[in-house]
Amino acid sequence: MTMQLDPHTDIASISGTVAKLRNTYNSRITRPLAWRRQQLQNMIKMLDDNEAELLEALKVDLGKPTTEGFITDLAFVTGEIKLMLKNLTKWNSTEKVPTPLVAMPAKSVLIPEPLGVVCVIAPWNYPVQLLLVPAAGAIAAGNTVIMKPSEVSPTVSGVLARLVPQYLDTTAVSLIEGGVPETTELLALKFDHIFYTGNGKIGRVVMAAAAVNLTPVTLELGGKSPVIIDKSANIEVAARRIAWGKWLNAGQTCVAPDYVLVDSSVEDKFVNALRTSITDFYGENPHTSDSYGRIVSPRHFDRLVSLMTGGTPIIGGESAAADRYVAPTVLGNVNLNAPIMQEEIFGPLLPIISVKDTNEAIEFITSRDHPLALYVFAENSSVVNEVLERTTAGGVTVNGTLLHLTSPHLPFGGVGESGMGGYHGKSGVRIFQHMKPVLKRGTKIDPKISYPPYTERKLKLFRKVL
Ligand code: NAD
Repeated sequence: MTMQLDPHTDIASISGTVAKLRNTYNSRITRPLAWRRQQLQNMIKMLDDNEAELLEALKVDLGKPTTEGFITDLAFVTGEIKLMLKNLTKWNSTEKVPTPLVAMPAKSVLIPEPLGVVCVIAPWNYPVQLLLVPAAGAIAAGNTVIMKPSEVSPTVSGVLARLVPQYLDTTAVSLIEGGVPETTELLALKFDHIFYTGNGKIGRVVMAAAAVNLTPVTLELGGKSPVIIDKSANIEVAARRIAWGKWLNAGQTCVAPDYVLVDSSVEDKFVNALRTSITDFYGENPHTSDSYGRIVSPRHFDRLVSLMTGGTPIIGGESAAADRYVAPTVLGNVNLNAPIMQEEIFGPLLPIISVKDTNEAIEFITSRDHPLALYVFAENSSVVNEVLERTTAGGVTVNGTLLHLTSPHLPFGGVGESGMGGYHGKSGVRIFQHMKPVLKRGTKIDPKISYPPYTERKLKLFRKVL
């Protein structure tokens, strides 16, 4: 396997690449569904043929366990693409809609058309999924697309940079590698849609660059996704599901539970159950477990070690710089003003905050930015309903974590600080289409009533029918 540790595309070539994609789009070769189907099938083939190399690259960059890499990066992408293939005709078909009386006689339709040239900028935590799922949606909708994987996961970036031109039509689909200079150059160019996944600070940079060309954006951002544990919760199941969602990919998941607000009457039981789950999943020493990942870079490792000082470890707390290991860590005695409660943790540290009841938890959450995800554990359905009614979040799983993200029928995205626009399933194709409204009239009937001169009689009639 070739490994590029600092991959980047020649900056001078970027504008030419985008110009080529625009020419291709204008040539209309991306319009026939047969072309799109072929590209999507090729993308699946690319993942299938190179599964071992991609899983190895995920391991090099993130210590990603093979099973996690397979499920969350590779199988997730192929699942989404298979759904696109199955519905390709349907999601690209003209939709009939009603016509109001005032415009009759006529027929009204929505004609889906591609937007043009799409730019997809991805982060490092699920570096295959977060690049290819939006790119596949853009292709399914008939766009040309340029992809920019994250330089923070350089091995995956290098492998994809080599594979994409081998499998996909290079006149319509390009991948450029690099960090800030390359992405800055890219964002100075004109696109018809920019799909960015990453942190909100850079989300603002992307949106400002897009504003220059009035380019629409989808921003898939992050934030602090809270968990509420009501006193009615099934504590054992809650602990297991939280432990899974938190320590998958060593906590480097945009929708990972960021912190827990637990009813004080069940706190001890919950912490004990969490300890049991961690041992069940990763053994007595998670450092030696094949099922536990690593922090992506020394910079992120240092950040997490420093965040840990915002509380007292009651489980875990160990770290090892040599292999960027941070133990599954539960923190008590949390300082609400410390950085750990001010910024997204994005790592394996879980602060536990005791609240007197779920009402206090709701108030805690609503006094902060709208999170990307919210989790509530309760057997009492009126508690669940109250949480749903009083809080806003990008998405919610009740009595579970992460899983709302897996449904193609639930558009995935944030609200407010956690982002704008949702994708997956049909919404992941719609986002790259313009549903062009067309009203079609015949000429056989053309009642004079609609035209000037206006008379009292006409006005009377309009008052009746409008
Ligand atoms: P990152 O550092 O890889 O950055 C994301 C992308 O932005 C990269 O491709 C990078 O090259 C580019 N970039 C960085 N600086 C830039 C600049 N100045 N100008 C233009 N482009 C620039 O990833 P990250 O931001 O650390 O990702 C983690 C964040 O992403 C977390 O907040 C996480 O919650 C969020 N996230 C959200 C989702 C989602 O689907 N909503 C998924 C994954 C991660």
